[in-house]
Amino acid sequence: SYVLLNDQITERKNVKIDMEDRGYNFGDGIYEVIPIYNSKLFTLDEHLDRFEDSARKLEIKLPYDKNELEKLLHQLKNANKIDNGIIYVQMTRGVSPRSHLYERDSNGIITGFSREMKFPEKPKQKGIHVFVTEDIRWLRCDIKTINLLGNTMIKRNAFDKQCQEGVMHRNGNITEGSSSNIFIVKNRTLYTHPASNLILNGITRQLVIQLARKNNIQVIEEAISLQQLKGADEAFITSTTQEITPIRKTIGDVDATFQIGEITKTLQQSFNKYVEIHCK
Ligand code: PLP
Repeated sequence: SYVLLNDQITERKNVKIDMEDRGYNFGDGIYEVIPIYNSKLFTLDEHLDRFEDSARKLEIKLPYDKNELEKLLHQLKNANKIDNGIIYVQMTRGVSPRSHLYERDSNGIITGFSREMKFPEKPKQKGIHVFVTEDIRWLRCDIKTINLLGNTMIKRNAFDKQCQEGVMHRNGNITEGSSSNIFIVKNRTLYTHPASNLILNGITRQLVIQLARKNNIQVIEEAISLQQLKGADEAFITSTTQEITPIRKTIGDVDATFQIGEITKTLQQSFNKYVEIHCK
């Protein structure tokens, strides 16, 4: 298969990563996962803006501009003939003798791959179980860093408890899922954590907020307490690969069950319509 290495589309076997790449030593890098529907890169602009934003926050220098990256990602998708799936793209701070102190002058190293995959239908239709637990991550969750140990530990924990996602809270305020954002519905109003340093501002999250308002559903961006989750009418998670996935049951720090309600179904339909229109 073909992959992206800096400004080249090349075969995967040609890519060699230095053992002192800062991504390898420190998890010093950023990434994006971009969906492909019907051979179109969906919400590419939003993903590239966030990529630039993460790079700026960590002072990692892009080796070329956003337009060049956009062109290369299209080339990568075409080289692998992807109809439906994802592109994964990441940038590390590059290679330097191992030291905590980073320099600002060198360019980042970009790698990327694409993968054909069908986002599974079953969880979107039947819903999932989630494990609610304490948020053990750092305080810059707004940066889409490849340093994901808090997230991976919580995901493993959730799966070990027969749940498909872990949902995290800080002192009783729900932040997000291990690889998703979370929304609840109460009295036909949508609630989700505000975009702050405590969550990743998901591209799907932002689209769902936009679609809700278009459907005259009120959206309130404020932290959801554990009690609010317990008393919610509906709950769902959002992400690039999980789209809008209903929550049927929570265990851990909240025990609750939910029906897949009207608002969730309306938003799912609205999301599918939006994809169809934008990926014709
Ligand atoms: N929050 C976290 C921690 C994530 O890892 C992700 C995506 O993987 C999301 C939220 C959802 O973001 P997006 O909708 O941009 O995929």
